[in-house]
Amino acid sequence: MTGSFTTRDGSSWVPKYLVAVDGATCIGCGRCFKVCSREVMRLYGVDEAGEIIGACDEEDEDFDGNLNRMIMVVDHPGRCIGCGACSRVCAKNCQTHVEADNAVDNGTEKPE
Ligand code: SF4
Ligand code: SF4
Repeated sequence: MTGSFTTRDGSSWVPKYLVAVDGATCIGCGRCFKVCSREVMRLYGVDEAGEIIGACDEEDEDFDGNLNRMIMVVDHPGRCIGCGACSRVCAKNCQTHVEADNAVDNGTEKPE
């Protein structure tokens, strides 16, 4: 299967799917979430030890005081269309994108 498509003007387009966000460097700013029209990502809270403690769907959620910081997580990789908008707004360069040819059908990165 080829991962190359043709745009309206006939030029080639290779989607680059979002497959991961580095939770160690992500600052949970939410900029990537705001530009994505596909609900691929979701904000999660992490505790002092860096363990994910739950989704931050409510602005004032503090998980009984255990919230240390928030990170973006690739919650639904299969919804990504590889537009690249999220990578352009990320100031921390913490996202991993994979060209369509190198991604498997369920939206995850092809194993080595
Ligand atoms: S590449 Fe586009 S569709 Fe995929 S997560 Fe980023 S903004 Fe959303
Ligand atoms: S734009 Fe980058 S730093 Fe901000 S939430 Fe998204 S992945 Fe994290």
